Amino acid sequence: MASSLPPRTSYLKKENAGTARREMGLKVAPRRNVLSAINNGEANGGTPSASADGGGGGEAATVVEFSGREDVERLLAEKMKGKNKTDYKGRVEQMSDYIKKLRACIRWYMELEDGYLAEQEKLQGAMDAENIRHSELEAQLSTAIEELKAANLDLTRRCEFLEESLNREKSEKLIAVESYEKEKQERESAENSRDVLTVDLERVTHDAKRFSEQLKMVQDTNKRLQEYNSSLQQYNSNLQADASKSGETISKLQKEKSAMMETMATLRECNNSMSNQLESSRASQQEAIRVKEELRKEVECLRAELKQVRDDRDHSVAQVNNLSIELADCKEQIGKYSKECISMSTKVSALEETCSTQKEQIQTFQKQLTVATEKLKLADVTAIEAMTGYEEQKEKIKYLEERLSHAESQIVEGDELRKKLHNTILELKGNIRVFCRVRPLLRFDGDSNGPEGASISFPTSVESAGRAIDLMNQGQKLSFSYDKVFDHNASQEDVFVEISQLVQSALDGYKVCIFAYGQTGSGKTYTMMGRPGVNQKGLIPRSLEQIFKTSQSLESQGWEYSMQASMLEIYNETIRDLLAPGRSNNFDMTPSKQYTIKHDSHGNTTVSDLTIIDVFGIADVTHLLEKASQSRSVGKTQMNEQSSRSHFVFTLKISGSNETTGQQVQGVLNLIDLAGSERLAKSGSTGDRLKETQSINKSLSALSDVIFAIAKGDDHVPFRNSKLTYLLQPCLGGDSKTLMFVNISPEASSVGETICSLRFASRVNACEIGIPRRQTQARSFDSRLSYG
Ligand code: ADP
Ligand code: MG
Repeated sequence: MASSLPPRTSYLKKENAGTARREMGLKVAPRRNVLSAINNGEANGGTPSASADGGGGGEAATVVEFSGREDVERLLAEKMKGKNKTDYKGRVEQMSDYIKKLRACIRWYMELEDGYLAEQEKLQGAMDAENIRHSELEAQLSTAIEELKAANLDLTRRCEFLEESLNREKSEKLIAVESYEKEKQERESAENSRDVLTVDLERVTHDAKRFSEQLKMVQDTNKRLQEYNSSLQQYNSNLQADASKSGETISKLQKEKSAMMETMATLRECNNSMSNQLESSRASQQEAIRVKEELRKEVECLRAELKQVRDDRDHSVAQVNNLSIELADCKEQIGKYSKECISMSTKVSALEETCSTQKEQIQTFQKQLTVATEKLKLADVTAIEAMTGYEEQKEKIKYLEERLSHAESQIVEGDELRKKLHNTILELKGNIRVFCRVRPLLRFDGDSNGPEGASISFPTSVESAGRAIDLMNQGQKLSFSYDKVFDHNASQEDVFVEISQLVQSALDGYKVCIFAYGQTGSGKTYTMMGRPGVNQKGLIPRSLEQIFKTSQSLESQGWEYSMQASMLEIYNETIRDLLAPGRSNNFDMTPSKQYTIKHDSHGNTTVSDLTIIDVFGIADVTHLLEKASQSRSVGKTQMNEQSSRSHFVFTLKISGSNETTGQQVQGVLNLIDLAGSERLAKSGSTGDRLKETQSINKSLSALSDVIFAIAKGDDHVPFRNSKLTYLLQPCLGGDSKTLMFVNISPEASSVGETICSLRFASRVNACEIGIPRRQTQARSFDSRLSYG
């Protein structure tokens, strides 16, 4: 607390101030000039100068200043000078000077006191303020302490709560750890069991797969067996059908077979009953053996028991002996043992009784044993008898089975025979046969009054019914007869029934040709192809249907057939391939390919560049026929706008092989829709049409020449005279079969052409190969047919 005091001018004041400063410990600036002056005066004379002067100049010496307590003490220690007690004046001066110094000192003190007071007051105020501040601080501190205490309490509580929750958490954690351990263990066990289950599952899957494979195999086998079964059934049915057909021999065989079957069935029944009897006698024998075995065992048991009893008895007898000896001894020695003796004897008697009953039992068992042995012997005898019966039956069955297999082989032979007979029948009918078909009158024929029918009649006498046709021409009756005559009511089905045997021959491996001959519009195409209507199918589609059907049914007998179809037309002595890929529907006069006909030594014909198509069903052939009919060359003539001016040849090659019998057949079926046979003058053709007609007539002449030459057995047959005859060469000679359909128009306007056609047919019909078999009644018969 530093404070500066104001400078003191007065002596006293300075003195007081210096004292006060010392008391208070305050640092007071030194005021040495006054004192030094005093000191100097002393040094100069030992007394202040003023006092020395004594008067006027003394004023200067009284100006004294005090700077501290030393100055005051020095003043107080100042002594009066002058040893002369009488010198008063000097003394007064000295005194007044001193008084002055004292006054100054007092004044200094008073000033100093005032300063002190003021300072005290100031300090008091400061202290008060400090006190207030202190109390305020104290209050603040106390509130802070209170707050702190409260906070401390709160914190303690929270700390406790936290500790509690910590403990709880710890316990929970412990539980959780435990449950985690448990879970872990469970999971491990679950994993283990899962592994085991996985292995099981794999095994089961594997098993299931294997089972499904086995199941599939079994199903396959079952299917195959069913197929085999059905084929066997079919084979059986075929056999029966064939057998019924193959005449008396086979029917006799069948009768015999059925009789044998019956005998066999009865024998089988007999055998069955015998077997049953044998079984039952065997069972009874088994039963008897079993009883015998049991009895034997029982007897053994009883024997053992008997032995035991005998041993017991022996033992007892020995005992009795001993006892009787002992008894005798005892009787002799002590009488009181007599009771014991009696009991012993009763025991012995009881044992003897048991022995006797057991002996009886043994006897009865022995009796039973003998009875069982007898029974066993009897059963043995029956079994032997049954066995011999069974052997006899077995032999009988073997014999019957042999006969059955013999009969079956005879049936196979019979089938062969059937084929031969079928062929012989066809041969007897003639290898060249002629059918005549008259179509009905059509509405658009003739002029607007409707068509006028020619007088055609069909004789109904027994020998010529269905085989003859009469025609009235200019009052003259012309009669013709053929292998078959179909009137206008004959349906396509009726016609086909008559030729189906020929189709069968093709399957049997023969070469077959079926021609349709006649003037344009007479119904050749209708007969061969038919109309697309349901029941109007012609010979070609029906033959193919039969071939496919029969070849399929023959599959069960081991036959496998493959078919190849080709279709061509011969137009102006040129071959045109009707199945050539990319062939346009337009009338194509300049075919780019050379179709060369070749025959090999086996009678197989090939035409180079010709399209040959493998067919597997009727659908394939229908498609081909449609294609061919679109490709056919047609030209306009006065007769029929749609008439065909070319020969249409459909060829089906049939190859069959039988793996079981090793047989092989190669059949050919040719179905030929010939071009119109009308004479040139009538159709009124010129130019291209003339050339067409001439070539048609030439090839038809060549066909008839070939047929007649074959029939006559000529060395030279002019096959090469036309493309048609050369193409069909292997199918026209030898054991091949030919059928000629002669189609007739019923209109009166066509009578001339009709007569020509009928005469041509008669000439062909007269070509008998082998035995002459029918009368030919062509009365107005031209030896040569003329065309043009
Ligand atoms: P071609 O081929 O000989 O020139 P078509 O077969 O074209 O003769 O027959 C001429 C017309 O006569 C055709 O409309 C045909 O449908 C019809 N026709 C031919 N034969 C018969 C028949 N038997 N029944 C009904 N219509 C027939
Ligand atoms: Mg035609």
